[in-house]
Amino acid sequence: MAHPDQAQRSPAVETLQRVFGYDAFRGDQADIVEHVISGGDALVLMPTGGGKSLCYQIPSLVRPGVGVVISPLIALMQDQVDALRNVGVRAGFLNSTQDFAERQRVEDAFVAGELDLLYLAPERLSVESTVRLLDRGEIALFAIDEAHCVSQWGHDFRPDYLMLSSLHERWPDVPRIALTATATETTHKEISARLNLDGARHFVASFDRPNIQYRIVGKNSPQKQLLELLRTEHKGDAGIVYCLSRASVEKTAEFLVQNGIRAVPYHAGLDKRTRAENQSRFLREDGLVVVATIAFGMGIDKPDVRFVAHLDLPKSVEGYYQETGRAGRDGLPSTAWLAYGLQDVMQQRKMIESGEGDEAHRRRQATHLNAMLALCETVECRRTQILAYFGQSGEPCGNCDTCLAPPESFDGTIPAQKLLSTVVRLRNERRQKFGAGQIIDILLGKTTPKVTQFQHDTLKVFGIGTELREQEWRAVVRQLLAQNLLAVEGDYGSLVLTDGSTSVLNGSRTVSLRREPERPARAARSSRRGSSAAAVELPAEAAPLFERLRAWRGATAKEQGVPAYVIFH
Ligand code: ADP
Ligand code: MG
Ligand code: ZN
Repeated sequence: MAHPDQAQRSPAVETLQRVFGYDAFRGDQADIVEHVISGGDALVLMPTGGGKSLCYQIPSLVRPGVGVVISPLIALMQDQVDALRNVGVRAGFLNSTQDFAERQRVEDAFVAGELDLLYLAPERLSVESTVRLLDRGEIALFAIDEAHCVSQWGHDFRPDYLMLSSLHERWPDVPRIALTATATETTHKEISARLNLDGARHFVASFDRPNIQYRIVGKNSPQKQLLELLRTEHKGDAGIVYCLSRASVEKTAEFLVQNGIRAVPYHAGLDKRTRAENQSRFLREDGLVVVATIAFGMGIDKPDVRFVAHLDLPKSVEGYYQETGRAGRDGLPSTAWLAYGLQDVMQQRKMIESGEGDEAHRRRQATHLNAMLALCETVECRRTQILAYFGQSGEPCGNCDTCLAPPESFDGTIPAQKLLSTVVRLRNERRQKFGAGQIIDILLGKTTPKVTQFQHDTLKVFGIGTELREQEWRAVVRQLLAQNLLAVEGDYGSLVLTDGSTSVLNGSRTVSLRREPERPARAARSSRRGSSAAAVELPAEAAPLFERLRAWRGATAKEQGVPAYVIFH
């Protein structure tokens, strides 16, 4: 490809080609770079892998002085600086891992004007000596990377980021560029407000990652399901497996290793050296799988991560999007796979209830979780739904699991009423609360020891739900929880009513449910390719049931005559 004449190239493009060896800017990069070079402030929202680094690196090279980059990623600073030095950029960093002599060398280079870029850990700025140091050199710009760390509501919150609002007061003439891959309207506004970036120009890139295939499957035996995925579709591929707890990280990594997969664990409970080693092995080796908590991954630039798997439900769509975004930075087809089940919903609802923070905090967490649950339960395109969450629109992608095998929804008002009626009867007639397991046993009319012990079999609702299988009832519970028509309470995960339950019971609200797909394990055996396509095929014995439920659609329970089990009417 012929480059334009030397004379016509802007200094930015010239630097891009000469220093970094790239032909052209991507997406908004050119506009952002020009804006910052001319001294403007910018807030850049660009997905992971979009190329945020060049947005501040190029202006740092073109403008006189040193580009000061604030980054929370201390573990990656050495790598970033090495990569820059390899292409001839004079870069250095200051963080807590250095000894005095190392720090001194970097400080001297800064003052002598021998640096193009200086990476700073945020806590450095609370040290007065760092501020004095910065006063002694010329600053080209401040870049605030991973700017969402200023958000007190996200899981990446760094208190030191709050101080960055004062950069502008101290150095009013130095342009600032804040960058993040997190981009809901709220985070966006919060970054703007907390960093004093009111006058900044906003650059919002498309959040679509077309090469990532989104898939969310029902969770049965997650480790085995994961192994199946790795063996059938990702043999020898590098990938990340996210688990909620350190214990499940350890267990899952062990399980994979026992089954011949090269896997290493990563979580904050491991000692520093093991963590650093596992991270650098992941970056350097081919085809290594890291099993990790969400402590792993921010800022990691490994292009060929072929899959990101979640064995537990992420707490928000933002988290999910960021984590899955680490797949396929090279633009090649990659998989985002999530296994999700009733237990996830119960556990997360409980964690929010019993967690720290005030009521407003809990409400916010619940809102985040609800959006994530809606994504799991949607019968529409996953990608469209993710983009909509970030305020962007898109056509159905034709590539996600729901596009490839559209799941059906059915009118689940009657099953919902039966289930809620059981909760009500237990409360009203027995002053008792039970978890999903026992309530489903009652609906199915099972005479388990617990059922006999509590004389559940004398309840009017005993055995009224035999038209659904246990697994299908679990799906009903899960979806009612997701829609806030049912809630969990206490240490034993007792099911209780919500404000919305009443309208279901009295027939003024219908409930649309996603039909529970066939067990993926069985589906995978019947079809080699795309287990998702087979996954939604209805088991023969369930077909008549759904015929019946479909016939109910459109008519409310009231119009059909209120069944005996409906308590409010
Ligand atoms: P982000 O910080 O947005 O997640 P990075 O800045 O780490 O992304 O860039 C991701 C990858 O894309 C890097 O390997 C980078 O070199 C590459 N890249 C960025 N911009 C360009 C470009 N204009 N042309 C080619 N490659 C690019
Ligand atoms: Mg980055
Ligand atoms: Zn789709």
